[in-house]
Amino acid sequence: MMNLNQEYLQAMGIDIWQERGQMNDKTNDTWQDLEQKVACCTLCGLEKTRTQTVFGVGNHQADLLVIGEAPGANEDKQGEPFVGRAGMLLNAMLHAIGLDRKDIYIANILKCRPPNNRDPLPREVELCTPYLKQQIAMIQPKLIVTVGRIAAQFLLNTEESMGKLRGKVFEYEGIPVVSTYHPAYLLRSPRAKEKSYHDFLRIKELLS
Ligand code: URA
Repeated sequence: MMNLNQEYLQAMGIDIWQERGQMNDKTNDTWQDLEQKVACCTLCGLEKTRTQTVFGVGNHQADLLVIGEAPGANEDKQGEPFVGRAGMLLNAMLHAIGLDRKDIYIANILKCRPPNNRDPLPREVELCTPYLKQQIAMIQPKLIVTVGRIAAQFLLNTEESMGKLRGKVFEYEGIPVVSTYHPAYLLRSPRAKEKSYHDFLRIKELLS
């Protein structure tokens, strides 16, 4: 949506230039417009059980976009992705490669918490992911990292297991994509942390 100043400039025949990430070519939505749309969304029915939507957080011009599955109880309460125990571990893994969560962007496949943390339903994914696609188009990151099976399978349009997907570089709309374990899985299966550390080293390499 254009603001009043932009409308005047356009009416005067003056080209409007905007910073990378400020506007999505496809919809002309600003970040504020998109966040507002998400906050009011009632498309899939999860609005009945959510406390609030969890839009995403971080740097709109980030080189790295991390995509998780859906908000859990803590995220639903605080309105921010990855703030529970899994989030702490994600922060630690980012620190291990010299990144802070404020430097990157973090979003989820679903913007609302599924009751009892069940897996997202295909219909919910279908109705919610246009928001994520718009976020990706606006950020245009250098690299996308999906954490967990659900995010990887959606973005890469595949049914493959995480075991088969990790360690490879895929592409989404021309952007390289790396898939690694979900931090909640690493909390349950600490032996997988070593493989995950290697994935993060690869992420560091791809970003440099
Ligand atoms: N798990 C996710 O996939 N996303 C969150 O935001 C929190 C936990």
